[in-house]
Amino acid sequence: MPVTRYHRQMLLPVVGDEGQAALARAHAVIVGVGALGCASADQLVRAGVGRVTLIDRDVVELTNLQRQTLYTELDARERRPKAVAAAERLASINAEIAITPVIADLTSRNAAALLRGASVLIDGTDNFETRLLINDVSVRDAIPYAYAGVVGVTAMWGAFTPGGACLRCVVPEVPAPGSLPTCDTAGVLGAAVQTAASGQCVEVLRVLLGHIDPQRRVLTEQDCWRGTRREVRLVADPACPCCAMRRFEFLEGKGSDTAVLCGQNAVQVSPESPASIDLPAMAKRLCTLGVVTLSPHMLRASVDGHELTIFADGRAIVKGTTRPEAARALYARLMG
Ligand SMILES: [Zn+2]
Repeated sequence: MPVTRYHRQMLLPVVGDEGQAALARAHAVIVGVGALGCASADQLVRAGVGRVTLIDRDVVELTNLQRQTLYTELDARERRPKAVAAAERLASINAEIAITPVIADLTSRNAAALLRGASVLIDGTDNFETRLLINDVSVRDAIPYAYAGVVGVTAMWGAFTPGGACLRCVVPEVPAPGSLPTCDTAGVLGAAVQTAASGQCVEVLRVLLGHIDPQRRVLTEQDCWRGTRREVRLVADPACPCCAMRRFEFLEGKGSDTAVLCGQNAVQVSPESPASIDLPAMAKRLCTLGVVTLSPHMLRASVDGHELTIFADGRAIVKGTTRPEAARALYARLMG
């Protein structure tokens, strides 16, 4: 047999000829091609996963280059859609792979169609609303879901596979907006992204090569600065609305809502249920990103050319755009 580009990987007993052929038949759908999505897509395309679909709603910006490894300064200057810039770069790394870029915001309206036919769903998102939507499709259609997340110096990853716990067993509802740190407010270590993506990709390969151990379903959390690691066992919740009751509420439209405000060049983003935002704490977190003014019932922040007005119930008005997906992206980045 001729030596192929995958020779070193095929030498691994866990891969071999058969495993490599299985990877070539697989279709990985990556939701979000930010830092995590870039790192995971890069590894999976090099490993020879035959089809890769990249879904992303955003464009490349200069502040992405610190950790989003598929992009260049030219991509940022031209504000190219991430899905397209990533697909081009990946195609230049491995022309044998069928790569499909999709410029879209994954929502309850398009998720079933966009994720259909995947062998594995890969989390490159930055918010739990989208994750719970992916989880609904994963459980409903029995498609394994490889989760990953990074904030600050902490990396997390794990796989949710049919027959085991789902993400909603662990995170029953979308955390209240502003209650969790985000990379935009807490920062992020590029190396932690690579750690999370590597952990995620090992899970993806295990899934695709049939090496999932049902007795050992865990989420791994690593503090990349201290070098400490802990594992949380994934236990299915018998009352889970998703995997136990088979109610796919996020797919049916549960979640935040956006409304374009006519004639105002603005979009309103409303959380699924009213939150109680600590506005002074939020103002403190946002003041590193731009000019923030605080009043008793709201705060105003100028970030990335947009003016945001955030209310105590979690509602926000994003000025400077009429694109709901752009407003949702900014909201998710700042509020979680
Ligand atoms: Zn569940």
